[in-house]
Amino acid sequence: MTQANTQPEVNIGLVGHVDHGKTTLVQALSGSWTDQHSEEMKRGISIRLGYADATFRRCPGVDEPECYTTDEECPDGSESEPLRTVSFVDAPGHETLMATMLSGASIMDGAVLVVSATEDVPQAQTEEHLMALDLIGIENIVIAQNKVDLVDRDRAVDNYEQIREFVEGTVAENAPIVPVSAGQEVNLDLLIQAIEAEIPTPERDPDEDARMFAARSFDINRPGATADELKGGVVGGSLVQGELSVGGGLEIRPGREVEEEGQTEWRPLETSIRSLQAGERSVESAKPGGLLGVGTGLDPSLTKGDALAGQVAGEPGTLPPTRHEFEMQVDLLDRVVGKEDDESGESDIEEISTGEPLMLTVGTATTVGAVTSARDGECEVKLKRPVCAEEGAQIAINRRVGARWRLIGVGTLS
Ligand code: GDP
Ligand code: MG
Repeated sequence: MTQANTQPEVNIGLVGHVDHGKTTLVQALSGSWTDQHSEEMKRGISIRLGYADATFRRCPGVDEPECYTTDEECPDGSESEPLRTVSFVDAPGHETLMATMLSGASIMDGAVLVVSATEDVPQAQTEEHLMALDLIGIENIVIAQNKVDLVDRDRAVDNYEQIREFVEGTVAENAPIVPVSAGQEVNLDLLIQAIEAEIPTPERDPDEDARMFAARSFDINRPGATADELKGGVVGGSLVQGELSVGGGLEIRPGREVEEEGQTEWRPLETSIRSLQAGERSVESAKPGGLLGVGTGLDPSLTKGDALAGQVAGEPGTLPPTRHEFEMQVDLLDRVVGKEDDESGESDIEEISTGEPLMLTVGTATTVGAVTSARDGECEVKLKRPVCAEEGAQIAINRRVGARWRLIGVGTLS
């Protein structure tokens, strides 16, 4: 297992039902972080978001697919050539994953759908996640039929057919299905081959305004650090377009809530970029792909405890507006997905009505909004906490169904 040695250039989501082996597969492909550099920053940003980087490599002179590996050393002792570094997004919580997927198509460039060969297809979240991929149009998909070490050949073939049938008519219809054992590390070469073929690195325009969705923010100082030692606040998240460089300016919106004479308002924060941690390395400038940690000149008390999670960062003067209310076009799902039969609440989704509360995920921000007006396919919401978002932004819409918030559709900010 080797460490990633370049910045990851593509983000690949790991989706699928709980216990089907997503985390095991990510571990098998990426190993674990062992680098001591900026350990606090990495620990801070990686744990909750579940990003893990892997460098895919190739052994020269070896046939496909056996040539694909993540090891630096080939079986014959020669050195393998790096192909590219990818970042796997394996969000630990199911809810986090759904929200991330639906609100930021740009955070995932493709997906590996993990399906266990030991269970009937589809399990609840297999269906729910595939629907989410379908909805947001993530088309570059590889299906990993996992745990094949636990079933006999007939069962594996049966399960394979079930998967084929299940994905028919969906965005994953033509996705390759690769039988693997993440646990026993079997067929990982085939899986890498499929990912290389199906999930290309998107073309990016370096001249676009930088746009980073903050998913975390924190204070990396140890308690009792002296003023001299004190490091500025750190913001962690995903750069989805443009580039950021050390020494450049950084604006963060909505910023912070300030109270003056009984009035509260949100003021953008402005600072400079003091350091960048892309993937596993300190870099001078960073492009989209993987998880980015930005060391800023902000007072660490402003970034402590995820205070800036959900906010948007970029070059000063280039960010979308802060919105306290907005209008969106609404696409409702046909029915509530992943709901167990014994749960209360309707399965059919009714139109959104004026006055009802919705939980909205916009980029990495999650906020509750009250519907102030609802018409056919459109509604206006007033938010409890403002968001920074531009026209056309995708929004995951959740409604209370029974005892939980359930995904009912996707909005487009108009
Ligand atoms: P996740 O919930 O999808 O992230 O699933 P995990 O990666 O946590 O795996 C769930 C369980 O299945 C763990 O006990 C793993 O050790 C086991 N597991 C995962 N992949 C395999 C596999 O290929 N073969 C076997 N036998 N067990 C596996
Ligand atoms: Mg897991």
